[in-house]
Amino acid sequence: MPSRTPYVAANWKMHKTVAEAAEFVDALLPRIAATQSDVVICPGFTALAEVVERRRGTAVKVAAQNMHEEEWGAFTGEVSAPMLAELDVEAVILGHSERRQYFNETDEALARKVPAALAHDLEPILCVGESEAARDAEETDEVLERQLQTDLGGLEPDQIAGVVVAYEPIWAIGTGRTATPEQAQEACAFIRDVLRARGAAAGEVRILYGGSVKPANAAEILSQPDVDGALVGGAALDPGEFAAIVDAA
Ligand code: PEP
Repeated sequence: MPSRTPYVAANWKMHKTVAEAAEFVDALLPRIAATQSDVVICPGFTALAEVVERRRGTAVKVAAQNMHEEEWGAFTGEVSAPMLAELDVEAVILGHSERRQYFNETDEALARKVPAALAHDLEPILCVGESEAARDAEETDEVLERQLQTDLGGLEPDQIAGVVVAYEPIWAIGTGRTATPEQAQEACAFIRDVLRARGAAAGEVRILYGGSVKPANAAEILSQPDVDGALVGGAALDPGEFAAIVDAA
């Protein structure tokens, strides 16, 4: 089986000013100096440049939390892939459930955003995941398959290995309710099967779990064979907690 470097990403959501972001990075870097994992920080737009500069010379990557699919145009308030690439940002979260829920992010828009990110050498961190109602109705696989088929619909099979997929059950995000390691494994393995059926080199794709990951539960979740890392929200606001999750990977 091809080896997949563990991948741990800090999604700060709408937290941290530039000064707070700088303080976090300075506190984090010495704590993770020995890690072999890919570590990614996802600040708000205003702190991207500061985090890029502070981590220069390290292996830490920087990701935006969203982008528009067009390169330029009359889209007030939006930011495009070339704008992010110019800052030396390396990745971008796409399809986070908060964007789907509060900002009408659609799978059809994601089908355009994912190739637009890749075209500018931005690694898409594509988030998929079911609602509590869908899980209760035993529709988790159906939801995941629909999201993946549409969101990755604009890619050739060989491009899919360049995407990081984050399985984020909506009921576990910011709620303190974590999926069990078995639920995380089952969903991540299903995602890998869907990617394989699309013709992708699915053994090479990093698939993350996200949803109330904390230092106390990270090791067990991350030890599952198809869980290659974590997308972390709340616990990624504190450098000590985030470093402990990186250690667990
Ligand atoms: C997230 O924002 O992607 C997330 C998983 O948040 P939390 O860790 O707070 O549940």
